[in-house]
Amino acid sequence: MSKSPKWQSYVFLITFIVILASQISRLAWPSAQETLTRVFLVSIYFALCLLVGLAAGRTFHRSFAGWTVLALFFTPFTAVIFLVVAGSPLTAYDQVCKDRDVETKAAIADEEYQGEHVCPLCGNSFNLVTHRGLHSPDDEPWRLICEQCDREIDVDALDE
Ligand SMILES: [Zn+2]
Repeated sequence: MSKSPKWQSYVFLITFIVILASQISRLAWPSAQETLTRVFLVSIYFALCLLVGLAAGRTFHRSFAGWTVLALFFTPFTAVIFLVVAGSPLTAYDQVCKDRDVETKAAIADEEYQGEHVCPLCGNSFNLVTHRGLHSPDDEPWRLICEQCDREIDVDALDE
């Protein structure tokens, strides 16, 4: 469930930057030199804010536009601290979904449900997906052995 910044976010940001830049340009214009310096510093500030937004969106799975605006108001440095403190909203279960490339928790639950089986030899219940109730020899990880009766499970024979 990757959140890529939508085009509305960019339109909103650009509008915001243009309004802010026009406000800044209305302030006193002492000299061309100072104007250039000011534009340069403001550009760096915006670039840093955008970086915070990108970090928020890509690494912390948070709103790109939201965190860019937050950085504009509170300075990028403060926003980065907020971001690290807030962390990622992904729960451990969401992370499992991402890692396994499964869309929903329901899909994972279903997959795990499909993996539930009972050992035909001793009746021990085990799970082919989570490997609960099973173990494998270190040098032969593809072999599945029932934890209770220590006999090999014939996976093909389980499918009815
Ligand atoms: Zn068994």
